[in-house]
Amino acid sequence: MCAIVGIYGNSDAAKLTSMALFAMQHRGHEASGISSGGDDCKKIWTIKNRGFVRDVFNEKSFETLKGNIAIGHNRYSTAGKDSVADTQPIHAKYKLGEISIVHNGNLTNKDYVRNRLIEEGSIFQTSMDTENMIHLIAKSSENKLKDRIIKSTKKLKGAYNFIIQSRSKLFVVRDKYGVRPLSLGQLKTGGYIVASETCCFDIVDATFVRDINPGEMLIFSSKNNDIETIQLFEDIDYRPCAFEYIYFARPDSMIDGKSVYNTRKAMGRLLAKKDDIKADMVIPVPDSGVPAALGYAIQSGIPFELGIIRNHYIGRTFIEPTQNMRNIKVKMKLSPMKSLIQGKSIIVVDDSLVRGTTSKTIIKMLRNAGASQIHFRVASPMIKYPCFYGIDTPTKEELIHATKTPEEVCSYIGADSLSYLSIDELKDAIGRDRNYSLVSFDGDYFID
Ligand code: AMP
Repeated sequence: MCAIVGIYGNSDAAKLTSMALFAMQHRGHEASGISSGGDDCKKIWTIKNRGFVRDVFNEKSFETLKGNIAIGHNRYSTAGKDSVADTQPIHAKYKLGEISIVHNGNLTNKDYVRNRLIEEGSIFQTSMDTENMIHLIAKSSENKLKDRIIKSTKKLKGAYNFIIQSRSKLFVVRDKYGVRPLSLGQLKTGGYIVASETCCFDIVDATFVRDINPGEMLIFSSKNNDIETIQLFEDIDYRPCAFEYIYFARPDSMIDGKSVYNTRKAMGRLLAKKDDIKADMVIPVPDSGVPAALGYAIQSGIPFELGIIRNHYIGRTFIEPTQNMRNIKVKMKLSPMKSLIQGKSIIVVDDSLVRGTTSKTIIKMLRNAGASQIHFRVASPMIKYPCFYGIDTPTKEELIHATKTPEEVCSYIGADSLSYLSIDELKDAIGRDRNYSLVSFDGDYFID
């Protein structure tokens, strides 16, 4: 969850950051923030608040957010933690000057580090794991910020991408597993961009340069003509998150060299390959089920139809804190095309089934609209384990596959049949050239 972006060396740094955040709104719409500064400013400004990017920033914001360096963040938190205090960037003054930091991921030793810092006298302002990094940097005895960041990083465990801005430099760190995506682009109007997803490069007129390597640190500074790169860890175990491909990322993004859209289509094709159902149409659950449904339709030869219409003025429904609100939100978001569905047998494709809220509500809607048969197809394996590496999944008890068999799930959601992608098929769809983080499916918690 969350989107982060950093811009270095462009006089419109804050404005470009807001545009990139806008393109990555799908990664979090609870809060948004930007810090800016740079060589001539000798100061860092921050504007952040709850709400969508378009609510938090306006033209006036960019009169405040000066400078040629900026960082930004879109927040997607779990239920209940939506206070203004828990927005990013986190900006602080410390011995060497000022810094501001944005983070995407999840630090698995958050409590251990935090408790030790508190014992040593630190006072925390937020409940975010990101604040640990600020304290570690502030308390370090190294004379250079670069060395403070390196030392602090070694004390962290988990999945993390950090972008840190000082008054004159920009630092980027990706964890040694490369769980969350992070890419580098070059701006046509001058300077560089680092962002969670490449889908924001078009909007700011940037060309893709490369992905940040797992365990790599980049330093942008006017002292160096080139970007300085340091490999922080030797024991690299590259594990990009499979869920970015399944659900989280925008289909037009390239993640670690692979098109999200193509991998989703491949997931749909593989689902269809093992089916021999004769149905009238394949319909996606919009938006995240669309590429997989297309793949299913192409492979099976069954017509693709838009049988469910999505209201675009509602965000992602998953974040709602109560089950009742989640049910209502799904209804407000999705509506069946009655004239198309009536009397028809349909194959419905969604990217994932977590609690079963969406599928149960949709199937009820489609039955009320007159569908004669509903075959539900999930373009990912069964989610049985919570993810602690930065994807918002509920507790194990709330995960429907942790407590019910596939047959029980099928009857709970009210489908005529139900099937999933296997873990092997998921690997085939994304590609077998490297390992992926599959914790939600296989429970292999490779980070402590
Ligand atoms: P559920 O309704 O709980 O079964 O969740 C499944 C639906 O939520 C699917 O339509 C997914 O597109 C979406 N989804 C899956 N994982 C997430 C997540 N981490 N955050 C937000 N939405 C999600």
